[in-house]
Amino acid sequence: MGKTANPMPLVFFGHGTPMNTLWQNDYTKAWSKIGAEMPRPKAIVVISAHWFTRGTWVTGQGNPETIYDFGGFTGLESVVYPAPGDPSLAGRLQTMLAPTKVGLDEAEWGFDHSTCSVLIHAFPEADIPVVQISIDGTKTAGFHYELAKLLAPLRDESILIAGSGNVVHNLRTWIRNQGQAGAYEWADRFEAKVKESLESGDDAALVNYETLTPDARLSVPTPEHYLPLVYLAALRRPGEPIKFPVEGVDGGSVSMLTFQIG
Ligand code: ZN
Repeated sequence: MGKTANPMPLVFFGHGTPMNTLWQNDYTKAWSKIGAEMPRPKAIVVISAHWFTRGTWVTGQGNPETIYDFGGFTGLESVVYPAPGDPSLAGRLQTMLAPTKVGLDEAEWGFDHSTCSVLIHAFPEADIPVVQISIDGTKTAGFHYELAKLLAPLRDESILIAGSGNVVHNLRTWIRNQGQAGAYEWADRFEAKVKESLESGDDAALVNYETLTPDARLSVPTPEHYLPLVYLAALRRPGEPIKFPVEGVDGGSVSMLTFQIG
């Protein structure tokens, strides 16, 4: 299938605290609006910050379980995002991403809170098949940028590719339930720089985020929440518009920046 005039949008969700799964706030309202306003996807592929693995994996189950990959947040244990999986799409992703070897996970993982906390708002009916892709923690951002490009044809088949993470994600300095009051200056600066690089389409800057500003080390102390963004930057086509339904830093040091391309 060739490139269509209107490929499916790309969405990066800045997911923040797992409690956003249950809450209704300005973040979750913006995510709901994103889902409501886009053409209905045939399937959703999520690059998950919370599935940071050795090697690249995809969820292969027909009915993945909702899993909890964190502790200390009460009330979430009973939440289920009952969307179906899509084993045939998972198999296809393995082929598309070759020669990178992609493992098919059929037992260990499921939908983690990268997926559940945002899709429960964006697509509350949970009737669209979802496949998660893990992030190979042994690889560079440049590797992820090139790998992502192989997913491009999916955009012409009404498949939504979403990344779920946080542009700034420092939990050592994060203060729960503080909202957007009192963001650290370094967190604000880094979010602004990433936003500026996204607006200007400066992919090299986004891939080389470690040197993007002196604030990178505090803003991205570990790469897993940042890297989903690199996938989406790689999939943007020339001249595609970008918008930012959510901006701002939660609890001092978690950027909620959410963007839609196309
Ligand atoms: Zn997270």
